[in-house]
Amino acid sequence: MTASEIRQSFLDYFASQQHSIVASSSLMPDSPGLLFTNAGMNQFVPIFLNERKPDAAHRPNTLRPALDTRATDTQKCIRAGGKHNDLDDVGFDTYHHTMFEMLGNWSFGDYFKKESLAWGWELLTKVWGIPAKRLFATVYSPDKSKNDPADFDQEAHDIWAGLFRAAGLDPAVHIVNGNKKDNFWMMGDTGPCGPCSEIHFNLLPSDDEAAGRALVNSGSPRCIEIWNHVFIQFNAGADGSFSPLPARHVDTGMGFERVAGIYATTKAFTDFTPEPSNYNADIFTSLFEAIAKLSGKTYTGTVPATRENLSEQQRTDIAFRVLADHARTVSCAIADGILPSNEGRNYVIRRILRRGILYGRKDLGLSTGFFTKLVPAVVASLGTVFPELKEQQTLIEKVIRNEEENFGKTLDRGIALFSRAANLAHEELGKNGQQQKILHTPIIPGAVVFELYDTYGFPLDMTQLLAAEYLVTVDTAGFEKEMEAQRARARAAQKKEIITVTENDNDSATAAPTPFTGFDYTHTQYNAEP
Ligand code: ATP
Ligand code: MG
Ligand code: MG
Ligand code: MG
Repeated sequence: MTASEIRQSFLDYFASQQHSIVASSSLMPDSPGLLFTNAGMNQFVPIFLNERKPDAAHRPNTLRPALDTRATDTQKCIRAGGKHNDLDDVGFDTYHHTMFEMLGNWSFGDYFKKESLAWGWELLTKVWGIPAKRLFATVYSPDKSKNDPADFDQEAHDIWAGLFRAAGLDPAVHIVNGNKKDNFWMMGDTGPCGPCSEIHFNLLPSDDEAAGRALVNSGSPRCIEIWNHVFIQFNAGADGSFSPLPARHVDTGMGFERVAGIYATTKAFTDFTPEPSNYNADIFTSLFEAIAKLSGKTYTGTVPATRENLSEQQRTDIAFRVLADHARTVSCAIADGILPSNEGRNYVIRRILRRGILYGRKDLGLSTGFFTKLVPAVVASLGTVFPELKEQQTLIEKVIRNEEENFGKTLDRGIALFSRAANLAHEELGKNGQQQKILHTPIIPGAVVFELYDTYGFPLDMTQLLAAEYLVTVDTAGFEKEMEAQRARARAAQKKEIITVTENDNDSATAAPTPFTGFDYTHTQYNAEP
C-alpha cells in the first residue's frame, strides 16, 4: 500500500462502521490554552463537554449513511510546544515529527472500549495484514500512592486478553501496564481526558515476543507506539481536579507517518531487518529528492545513537530529516494563517523555520532561498489531502522567502560569533586545569546568547542546539536577565512615547487597531522583524 492508500483505507474502514468522514480542522486551535492543534480530538472538545450536540451537520464532507455520533478523519497536528513538544527529537529520531497527520475515529457517547479496540484490531491484523505477534497493547495502571485518577483499566485489559488469545497469543506477554504519563491522555493541563490503551509495533529483526515486549515505551525505534485509544470520561480543571463528564466517549489517534513508514520499511511486513523510519514512507520522497537536488548530497538513513561526535554523513542525514519535517510544518502553518513572527505560536513557527535554515546552512551547505524551494515538494506531497496548501502556495513561498532573506543577513555572522564564544569558553576552562574541564562544561555567557538573539535573530533553542554540537552549555539564567532588562527598557520607552503622543495630541494614539482581513492583509502587513 502507498501512504495515501493507507490513509484512505483507514477512513473507508471507519466509514463502513457508520462514521462520517470529517475534514481536518485548522492548525490554529479552537481550544483556548493550546499553542497549536495537537490531536484529532481538539475540534470535538465542545461535544465532549456537552456544549454542542453531536450532529453530522456540524461536519463537512459527511458521507451518508453515517451516524451523528461517529466521526473519522486525518488531522494535521503540530507538537512543538506546550504539553506535547517533540521538536528536540526531530531529525535525531525517525518517528517524531513537528507536524504529522493523526488518523482517528470518535464515538460521541456512542460505542465504547469493546468496539473501538476490536475494530482497531480488525483493521490492523485483518485489513492491513499486520502479524498479530508483532503487536503489544498497553493498559492504564494508576499509582494510587500518587493520587492518580481512575482505576486500573480491567475492562480494556480483558478485551485485549480475548483478542490476543483468539489469535493464539499469550496475553501475559502482549499486554503491558502503563503509568499515568503514558496511559492517561490529556491534550493540555485542562480539558477532556481519560485513561488510554495504546498499540505498539515490534520492529525487531526477529519476532521474539519477549524481546519486543521489553522495548514497549523504552524509546527504541524498534518498537513504536502506533495507535492510542483514549476513553474520554473526565474534564480536567485548572485546579487539578478530574470531574466526570455526562457521557463516555472514544477518541483515537494513529500516527499516519508511522504506519506508512512501517509499511514502506518492512515491504508489507516481510523483512524486518532495515532500520525503521517514518521517512521511508512515500510522502517524503518529493522532499528528499528536492533536498538532494539542491545540496548535491545523498541521504543514507543513518540514525546516530548519541548526539556527540557525529560523522559528516550522520549530520547530512539528520539535516535531511529536519528539513523535510520543518518544510511541512512551516508550509502547513502558514496555509492555516499562522505566520512566522515574534510572539506565541507565530514565534514557534519562526523558530522552526530558522532551525531548518540553520541545518541547511551548516550541514548541507545550502544558501539563502533554499527553504522556499522546498515548498513545491510539500505541495506535491500533501496538496491533494490539504488543498489549502495549493491555494496558499504563493503566500507560503512569499513569507518564507522574506524570512530567509532577513535571517540570511545575520546567520553566518551569528554562527561565527557563537563559534568564537564557544572556543573562548573552552580555553577559559582549559586554563583552570583538565580536572575542572571534566567536572564542568564550558559556558556561553548570557550576554552573548542575548546578542545572538537580539542582533542576529538566533532563538534561544537554536543557540542551545549549536551549544550541544560545540560541547558547551548556555547561561540561560543570564540570558533571561538580559531579556528582562530589555523588556524593562521597552516598557520605559513605551511610557515615554505615550507621554509624547498625548502631549502632541497625535490622533494615531487613538486610532482603532487594523482589523484582520484575511490573507491580503498578511501579504502586505506581515511582520518580518527581527
Ligand atoms: P509517543 O509516546 O511516541 O511520543 P504519544 O503517546 O505522545 O506518542 P499520543 O498523544 O498518544 O502520542 O498520539 C496518538 C498517536 O499519534 C501516537 O500513538 C503516535 O502514533 C502518533 N504521534 C504522536 N506524536 C507524534 C509525532 N510527534 N510525530 C508523529 N506521530 C506522532
Ligand atoms: Mg509524545
Ligand atoms: Mg506515548
Ligand atoms: Mg500515546
